[in-house]
Amino acid sequence: MDIFCKIINNEIPSYTLYEDDIVKVFLDVNPNHNGHTLIVPKKHYQDFFDIDEDTLMHVYKVAKDIAKLLKERLNYDGISMCQNNGLGQEVKHYHLHLIPKYKEESKISLGEVYNKLK
Ligand code: AMP
Repeated sequence: MDIFCKIINNEIPSYTLYEDDIVKVFLDVNPNHNGHTLIVPKKHYQDFFDIDEDTLMHVYKVAKDIAKLLKERLNYDGISMCQNNGLGQEVKHYHLHLIPKYKEESKISLGEVYNKLK
């Protein structure tokens, strides 16, 4: 079982921002920038080629809501959304990265970011 399946099953903890029947959304444990967030389908899909279109659409619908939340609470200057497949994909369970970008940034702890977002 991959690490994201374990997070979805609550076998290992995460800083969870949102969940519904289809996705779980939590902070990346090794963030590139404050608020780096992952949107992960609860059903196991390996990658972009494996995930079904309805689930993919839901991932992006939730991405819009989370991107708005991050803007409201962290006031980023830009945001990247990326998703790795094959080479460069560390966790073989589909996930969309939301990576806020800042003109100037003081890195804060995951716990502090989480407190701002909850
Ligand atoms: P990728 O290279 O697209 O597969 O990215 C995997 C991401 O998962 C990396 O940014 C990791 O920092 C992140 N990650 C790995 N383990 C955990 C975990 N237990 N909780 C949250 N994020 C994780």
